[in-house]
Amino acid sequence: MSYEHIEIPADGNNITLADEETGELDVPENPIVPILYGDGIGSDVGPAAQMVMEAAAGETGHSITWARVYAGEAARDRYGENLPQETVDTIREHRVAIKGPLTTPIGSGFRSLNVALRQKLDLYANVRPTYYLAGVPSPVKSPEEMDMVSFRENTEDVYAGIEYEAESEDAQKLREFLRDELDVTDAIHDGPVGLGIKPISEFGSKRLIREAIEYAIANNRDSVTLVHKGNIMKYTEAAFRDWGYEVAAEEYADETIDEDALYDEYDGEAPDDTVVIKDRIADNMLQQLLTRTGDYEVLAMPNLNGDYLSDSAGAQIGGLGIAPGGNFGHGRFLAEPVHGSAPKYAGQDKVNPTAIILSGRMMFEYLGWTDAAELIRDAVEESIRTGRVTYDLHRQIEGGEKLATSEFADSIVDEIRAIS
Ligand code: NAP
Repeated sequence: MSYEHIEIPADGNNITLADEETGELDVPENPIVPILYGDGIGSDVGPAAQMVMEAAAGETGHSITWARVYAGEAARDRYGENLPQETVDTIREHRVAIKGPLTTPIGSGFRSLNVALRQKLDLYANVRPTYYLAGVPSPVKSPEEMDMVSFRENTEDVYAGIEYEAESEDAQKLREFLRDELDVTDAIHDGPVGLGIKPISEFGSKRLIREAIEYAIANNRDSVTLVHKGNIMKYTEAAFRDWGYEVAAEEYADETIDEDALYDEYDGEAPDDTVVIKDRIADNMLQQLLTRTGDYEVLAMPNLNGDYLSDSAGAQIGGLGIAPGGNFGHGRFLAEPVHGSAPKYAGQDKVNPTAIILSGRMMFEYLGWTDAAELIRDAVEESIRTGRVTYDLHRQIEGGEKLATSEFADSIVDEIRAIS
């Protein structure tokens, strides 16, 4: 495929799908990987991640051929639009990519480009591992108890974008429909009102929860917790929970038990190699993460709960500067840090690139490059352990050396070379 603004280097090869059913990939020795720096601090952390990933790949016998793609401000300059089709097509074609944050205006202006990209590529699962790196300052007493992976549904819920502005013709039509056809008379106040729709489907819920269960089984995790607000939203959030138990019982009966059975039939001791399926109401879950951190290993959540919970969990292990993430579906993986574009720090060579670097680590795991992935983790941990950190961690520790984004990346590259 040829593109107007995107250069695909001739020396790389495409990643292809080896197995349609399982989404297994055929990864060449020098895959072409699209990289999107993004807005704000994206231009600080993106190149830092690129350097570290190149070093880790190089030391373990791999190589990456980067193809720069654009969205947000950089795309407006080149294409006159926020999310060019070329960018979507390049990521779709090359299957595995990494991106920095993209700014979303609040209240007015365009809709989230992150959400649009995930929806266009149907990357239905957002996965965020939250684990403690030795030496990272944390606001809680035992951050090392956190070793959890969140699976957040990525395509529906209140993120579906079905929302109508107060006093618009559409809001008025919907209000009249609710009143006249569905007898909704008291629930909506008189006067201007914005209206939104929250779709949660059986299909969307089950495919996400299936991924969480499969992950738990493959990685010997003890439990999957379905996080919902089903006490209030009975036909959306409670349905998510019910479909979760259903998919476990129907498709993973030999590998899972639900929490009731754990106590009724097994006296609270799960048999070996069994994943316990449990559920928690989202507000309770937020405090459980703080008070009983170690009880939770894999979470499966609708979109909004997942957004809140995973940022909060990220704070427990040291903050957004180090929290990685990725989106996947249909044999495609788009790595991206949890944090946003932090515009006030843009271009200052100041912020922490660890989150996007560890997102790159996830990408390597997806490619099957586990040696390179482990090398990245070890090198990041070593740099942090020795107190060579960016401002966000430096302000929380005694002593240490405050590094710029680029210096921190250099320090990790040095560690990679020293370790290997
Ligand atoms: P944010 O950009 O994540 O920044 C919030 C705060 O988190 C920063 O002020 C900083 O805290 C800390 N932080 C974030 N990234 C950091 C890093 N790499 N190193 C160190 N500290 C870091 O959140 P926001 O200000 O709410 O959002 C800004 C824009 O990003 C919005 O337009 C939002 O829509 C967008 N956003 C995009 C994504 C995405 O692309 N996936 C995700 C979230 C938000 P201190 O100032 O306390 O040091």
